[in-house]
Amino acid sequence: MSDKINNHYIFDKEDNSIIKSNFNNYLDWDKSCFDTVKEKIKKFLRSEQNNKCCYCKKELKFDLKDVDIEHIIPKSAYSKFTFHKYNLALSCPACNTIKGSKEVVKKIIVNYPRDSKNIKIIHSHFDNYSENIKIENDCVFIPLTKKGSETITVCELYRLITVEQKAKESLIKKSDGKLLRDALRLSKNDKMELINELLQRGLK
Ligand SMILES: [Zn+2]
Repeated sequence: MSDKINNHYIFDKEDNSIIKSNFNNYLDWDKSCFDTVKEKIKKFLRSEQNNKCCYCKKELKFDLKDVDIEHIIPKSAYSKFTFHKYNLALSCPACNTIKGSKEVVKKIIVNYPRDSKNIKIIHSHFDNYSENIKIENDCVFIPLTKKGSETITVCELYRLITVEQKAKESLIKKSDGKLLRDALRLSKNDKMELINELLQRGLK
């Protein structure tokens, strides 16, 4: 099944002119003059990526701070790919921050690659995620390939297991609370019966 980004963002005349007049190197990325271009990229990629982070596949939220434009090949190492159509994908801020500027290319490249042969991690424009990683219970990431395994390491996707565990623990606590509330409504005799039953269970 294809689950890669099938269409890249197409920079229009206006975008190109803003980039041409304001971009010198990757440090310019944060300049406010690029805000509208970035908004257009986000809007386009959100639908291409079914609103999911390209690395952990969690749903992207809609607040500005809840989605990042991720540079698959780090822009700090390859400044000239900062606005490259194939280098942009949306990720959650956590994946983006953790991945940071870690090395993802196998050897020094001059031109932007046309496939992901020399990219260590899943490249969302070139690779199908599901061929490289299987996600179980929304939080367990099982590598199916070396690329999958590298992606899990680079983005520390195992961090999500802990998040999920915490969520489950809090759910258990909530259901315990309900049991307690129900028990308090019981008559005195039924309460004693329940206590005895719980004691018996505990003894087994
Ligand atoms: Zn993510």
